Amino acid sequence: GRRPNGQQRISSSRLTVNAASERSYIMIKPDGVQRGLVGDIISRFERKGFALKGLKLFQTPQDLAEEHYSELKERPFFPALVKYIVSGPVVCMVWEGPGVVASARKLIGATNPLNAEPGTIRGDFAIVSGRNVVHGSDSPANGEREIALWFKEGELVDWEPTVLPWVLE
Ligand code: ADP
Repeated sequence: GRRPNGQQRISSSRLTVNAASERSYIMIKPDGVQRGLVGDIISRFERKGFALKGLKLFQTPQDLAEEHYSELKERPFFPALVKYIVSGPVVCMVWEGPGVVASARKLIGATNPLNAEPGTIRGDFAIVSGRNVVHGSDSPANGEREIALWFKEGELVDWEPTVLPWVLE
């Protein structure tokens, strides 16, 4: 994507997989937004070196919350989970980089925040699973599934940070 004049390519967005990259769908849940943790959470992914490819504040419709968590629909906490996710705006993000899915899960910490290590987002900011502040895709395939669910064509930006050579060799 580098041009001879040093400018970065900013072209059409994409909802398909680039073989050279991995992407994760990261979402700050309504409690994270309400508690003013948006900046801190975004900052952790920025400082790690991953590239932000999509970002929006969004009020989730009921059917999208149900589809996103469809694998959990038989679980007893499913109705409360959907109610939680639609209870206020969320921040939807796409982060890209080598190993971003597993790395983001480490930055986020265990589902039950009491089991999450200090220094992780949930370890630092949360107490219970039903208010655990942030979501991160659990596999690259689910990452792509979730990106396609939460973002439309044209909402993602195809760009590369100019610092990339200082982050990746
Ligand atoms: P994760 O978000 O860590 O990938 P899961 O996919 O297992 O975890 O569950 C999705 C979300 O459902 C969790 O982040 C949490 O908000 C909620 N959840 C999971 N387990 C429970 C539980 N036992 N009680 C209440 N909520 C739960």
